[in-house]
Amino acid sequence: MQAFEATNHYFDQAAKLLDLTENMRTLMITPDRELRVEIVIELDSGQIGNFIGYRVQHDNARGPFKGGLRYHPHVDQDEARSLASLMTWKTAVVDLPFGGGKGGVNCDPNKLSRGELERLTRRFVQQIHDFIGPDKDIPAPDVGTDGQVMAWIMNEYTKYHGFHPAVVTGKPVEFHGSEGREAATGFGVALVAREMLATMNRRIAGTRFAIQGYGNVGSHTARSLFEQGGRIVAVSDAYGAVFNPNGIDIPALDRHVAVNRKVPGFPDGEAGTNEQLLTCETDVLIPAALGGVFDAEAARGVRAQLIVEAANSPTWPEADEVFQSRGIPVVPDILANAGGVVVSYFEWVQNLQHFRWPLEQIQREEEKRLVAGFKSIHELAMKKGTSLRTAAFMLAISRVGRARILGGI
Ligand code: NAD
Repeated sequence: MQAFEATNHYFDQAAKLLDLTENMRTLMITPDRELRVEIVIELDSGQIGNFIGYRVQHDNARGPFKGGLRYHPHVDQDEARSLASLMTWKTAVVDLPFGGGKGGVNCDPNKLSRGELERLTRRFVQQIHDFIGPDKDIPAPDVGTDGQVMAWIMNEYTKYHGFHPAVVTGKPVEFHGSEGREAATGFGVALVAREMLATMNRRIAGTRFAIQGYGNVGSHTARSLFEQGGRIVAVSDAYGAVFNPNGIDIPALDRHVAVNRKVPGFPDGEAGTNEQLLTCETDVLIPAALGGVFDAEAARGVRAQLIVEAANSPTWPEADEVFQSRGIPVVPDILANAGGVVVSYFEWVQNLQHFRWPLEQIQREEEKRLVAGFKSIHELAMKKGTSLRTAAFMLAISRVGRARILGGI
C-alpha cells in the first residue's frame, strides 16, 4: 500500500459512516491540480544539479490551498498527494478557512550547501510562482525546510508579484513571520496530549513520554511537555536514540544537540536504536519524524498506552487496526499536529492585516482552536463508537462537503 492509498483508506472508513455518494467521494479524494517541475541549478562544484519538485493542490472548497514543503530524498508525487489530502482534512478539523496542499523537492538537504539550497529554492519558486499566492496556495515549512527557506520563497515571489508576505508562512519572526510559529506544532502536540490524558484521568506531570524525531516538531514537543512536568524517557533522531527512565533533562539535551547536531552521544542517558524507542517502556509514544513508522508488527510491539501522532501518517492502516484491537487510543495526525497550520493561519492573517500579534494572544488562540477540535472529535468518537481518527475524518469530510455544496460544484 502506498501513502495516498492509506490516507484514502482512512477517508473511506469515515465516508461509509456518512453515506457519501460515490461521485462525492471521487470529487473529495481527487486532487484539483498536480505540478511536477524540473529544477536545474549550478552546484558549487560547477556541475549541473537536477532535481524534481512537486506541488499537489488537493482541495480548496474551504479556502486557499495550504500546506508544507518538504526537502527529503523520499519526496515523490504519491507522498505529496497523500500529505496534501491530509492537509484538506486537517484544516477542516480545526476549522481554518483553508484547503489542503503539499509539496517538496526530492533532494538531501544535508548534502547541499547553503548556496545550493538557496538556488534550488529560488528556482523552484520560478517554476511554480503563478500557482501559489496569498489567495491561491500558501506553502509552509515541513521536514528539511525552515524559516530561511520560507524567507527565500517570499523574496523570490516578490520579484514577480510585488510585496506579498502572506504567500508563505513559517517565516522568521524578523522577516514577516509570527511569534510562536516555530514552536507551534510541538506546543500544540503537548496541548492535545494534555486534553487526551485528561480523558484518561491523567496529567502531563509525572507521565512518561517517548518521542521519535528531534527536529522542529519533536524538540518543541519535548520542551513543552518537560516544562509541564512530563517525564521524557526516550528521544531519538535519524542517528539513534537516548533513554533515561528517570527523565531526560531536555534543556541539557538541547545544549548537546546545538553543539553536536544530533541526539546520540548525550551523556545523561543510555544509547539505543529507533526500533527500541518504539517498543520502550513508556506511557505515551509520540512519533515526530517521518511517516510509515508503524506497520502491524511494530504496532504489536508497542508498550505505550497512548499514541499521539505528531508526524504526518506515521501509522499504516494495518497498524491502526492492531492499536484498535489492543485498546491503545491514537490521537490522529490531522488533529495532533494541527497547531502548526493554526499558527500559520495567524501568520497569514497578520501579514494581510500588516499588524503583529503578541505571543500570549497567539498561544491563547492556538489553544482555543486545538481544544475545540479535540472536544468535537472526542465527543463524536464517543457518540458513534469510532476511533478518534475516524471521528476526525467524519468531522472534516462533513465540513468540506458542506462547503462544496454551498459553493456549488
Ligand atoms: P525536521 O526536519 O525538523 O525533523 C525531523 C526529525 O526526524 C529529525 O530529528 C530527524 O533526524 C528525524 N528523523 C529522520 N529520520 C528518522 C528516522 N528514521 N528515525 C528517527 N528519526 C528520524 O521535521 P519536522 O518539521 O520536525 O517534521 C517532523 C514531522 O512532523 C513530519 O512528519 C512532518 O510532516 C510533521 N509536521 C511538521 C510540521 C511543522 O510545522 N514543521 C507541522 C505538522 C506536521
